[in-house]
Amino acid sequence: MSEQVLSMPVPMKFNDVEYDITVKIDPVNRTIEGKNLITVNNPRELQLMLGAAYEVTQAEFNDGPLGVGREQANRAHIWNIPFYFRHQIQFLIQWRGTLASLDTSLDHQQTLGRPVAAGGESGSFLPDASNWYPRVVGQLARYKVSIELPSGQKGLVAGRLVEERDTGQAYQASFEFPHPAEGIDLMTGPYVIETQTHQSINHKPIQLRTYFHPQVSSLSKDYLDAVKRYLDLYESWIGEYPYMEFSVVSSPTPTGFGMPTLTYLGIDVLQLPFIRDTSLGHEVLHNWWGNGVYPDYSSGNWSEGLTTFMADYAYKEREGSEAAREMRLGWMRDFAALQPGQDAPLTVFTSRTHGASKIVGYNKAAMFFFMLRDYLGDTVFQRGIQGIWKVQRFRITSWQELQKIFEMISGQNLHSFFSQWLERTGAPAITISDVKNIAMDSGYELSITLKQSEPAYQLRVPVAIENSTGTTTHILDLQQEQQVFTLKLTDKPLSVSLDPDLRLFRQLTRGEAPPILREVMVNATTQTILLSAKVDIRKIAETLTGKLQDRKPQIAAPDEPLSAASTLVIGLKPEVDAWLAANQLPARPDEINNKGTAQVWTLARAEGASLAIISARDAASLEALIRPLPHYGRQSYLAFDAQQVIEKGIWPMQVQKVAVK
Ligand SMILES: [Zn+2]
Repeated sequence: MSEQVLSMPVPMKFNDVEYDITVKIDPVNRTIEGKNLITVNNPRELQLMLGAAYEVTQAEFNDGPLGVGREQANRAHIWNIPFYFRHQIQFLIQWRGTLASLDTSLDHQQTLGRPVAAGGESGSFLPDASNWYPRVVGQLARYKVSIELPSGQKGLVAGRLVEERDTGQAYQASFEFPHPAEGIDLMTGPYVIETQTHQSINHKPIQLRTYFHPQVSSLSKDYLDAVKRYLDLYESWIGEYPYMEFSVVSSPTPTGFGMPTLTYLGIDVLQLPFIRDTSLGHEVLHNWWGNGVYPDYSSGNWSEGLTTFMADYAYKEREGSEAAREMRLGWMRDFAALQPGQDAPLTVFTSRTHGASKIVGYNKAAMFFFMLRDYLGDTVFQRGIQGIWKVQRFRITSWQELQKIFEMISGQNLHSFFSQWLERTGAPAITISDVKNIAMDSGYELSITLKQSEPAYQLRVPVAIENSTGTTTHILDLQQEQQVFTLKLTDKPLSVSLDPDLRLFRQLTRGEAPPILREVMVNATTQTILLSAKVDIRKIAETLTGKLQDRKPQIAAPDEPLSAASTLVIGLKPEVDAWLAANQLPARPDEINNKGTAQVWTLARAEGASLAIISARDAASLEALIRPLPHYGRQSYLAFDAQQVIEKGIWPMQVQKVAVK
C-alpha cells in the first residue's frame, strides 16, 4: 500500500460476493451439471439469476428453500432477495442442462452477438453473458471454479490454476480468481497444454500456458515467447502484471477475446503470422486496461482506446514515425467516410467487445490519448498512466476518474480538453483561411488566419512553416472560430502547412482525405454508369454494384456529362479509356495500369464528389470481382488477377499548404 501515491478511502462494500462453483461438463453429449455456493457479505437487496436453458435441481439459503426462481420453462430463473440484517448470507444452487451445439461456421461478429453456452468435441465456450451459472446480478465477484471433464478434454476459466488432475478417465482442474471480477467465461477443448514460467518485474513467477488444439500445438513456443516480451514491455511501462498466470487458448470458432489472465483466439487466427505482433499484444495489455482497471460502461468504455493506443498504435510508433502517421491518417480517413448517424460521442461507446463501432470507440479514443500525451508531454502522461494503475486496479473506472488522475499529476485543469473530445460528436474542421507576410527591417512578420467549424474547440494547432533552409513547427492556440496569429520570423517564409503530421483529430477536408472506395459504396446518392452496351456485361455490373452498395443501384447514362454526384463507373478496358478521355479525366494510374485482369481506382475531383472506376478485361474478370471487392472499401486503388488482389493502396494525403507571397 505504501506505493500508492494517490490513495483514496476504500468504501464499505455492500453485496461483496464470492462464488464457489463445481461444474461437470460432457462436451460430446453437451451436458452440464453444476453447483454454486454463493456467499454475500454485508448483503443489501439483491437479485440472483440463472439462464433459461437450465433446470434448477436444488436451491436453498440460510433460512431454507429458495424455490426454482421461475413459473414457466424457457424463462430465466430469477430470485429477488430482500434485505436481511446479517453480516453474511449464503445460497446453494444446483442446476443442470444441455449446451447448444457449437456452430463453427459463425464468424467473430456472430459469436459476439450470440451469448449462448455451446459445446462440442472440438470445443465448448460458455460466455459469461449466457448466464451459465447462478449469479448475483450486477455485482463484481471473486470466485473458485472446479471443472470436471471426460478424459481427452481440458478446460479452464480465468484465474490461477490451483489444482489439476488427469486420471485417465477424467480431467479435473480448479481455478481461483481472488479479485472482484466482472464475470466468468469457461472454455473446454481437446487441448495439448504447454507450460513455462516467467519472472515478473518483481521476481514473482508467472505461469504461462498454451491450451492449443493439436493442429496448432507446434506454434506454442512462439506464442509463449511473444507473451513474455509483451509482459516485460507493459510491466516496465505501466506497472506489475496483476496476476500469476497468462494463457493463450485456441478456439474452434474464428474469434478473438481478451479476458483476465487469458486470451481466446480462433485456430485460424492463431495461424496468421502477424497475430503475434499485433492482436496478441493488444490482448495481453487488456489485463491492465479492461480486465485490470474496469471501464464504467455507463459513462463510456475508454479501455479499447487506451489499449489500441498502447498496443496497435505503439507498435507502429516503434516501426517509425511514418508508419504511425499512416495509422492516424487511416483513423481520420475512416472517420471522414462515416455517414450521418454513424458517429456518436465517446461517452456513448459502451461495447464490451471488439465488434462494435471501431471508428469511434477504438480509433477516436486512441487519438484522444495521443493528443493528451502531446498536451501533457511524455513524462507527465507516463506518470498519469502509472497513476491510473496504482489507484484504480480492479475498480470500475470512468472517464471522469481518468481525468482526475491526469489533473492531479499534471496540476492542470483538463475539463475542456476531456469534455470537448468525449462529449461531442464529430471533429473540428480547421482551415488556413489567409496568410500575409510583411518584410520588416529585422526579418518578417507572418500573419496566419485559422478558421474552425462552430462551436469552437480549444485547440493547439501545429503549423509547419517552410523557409529556404528547412521547416519549423509552431503551435497556435486556437480558441475562436476565426483567429489571426502573428509570428516574427528571421528567415523568409515560403509556405504554411496545417497540421501536416496529423496530430489533431479533425475532420479532413475533401482535398486532404485521399479518396477511397468506401465513399461510392456508402453514399446513398451515388450514381452508377455502365459503359457497356452488352447485356451480359451490364447484368454482371449491376450485380456487382448491388453488392458494393447493398441497395438497388441508380443507373445513369454514359453519354451525359459527369454530374456533381458521387459516381461509380464500370466497363471493359477500351470503353473505360475512351470514357476517361471524353470526360478529360486522367488516364489510368501507373500503380495498376496493365496489371492483372481488372483494375479499380478512385479519382479526386475538383468539385469534391467521389469518383470510382472499375475496369475489367472481359465478362469473367468482372464477375470475379463480385465476391472480393466489397471487402476493400478502405483502399484507393486495386488490381485483381481474377479473384486475387495483386496490387492495392491508398493515395497520399494532400496536406493543406498555402504558399507565402
Ligand atoms: Zn480490445
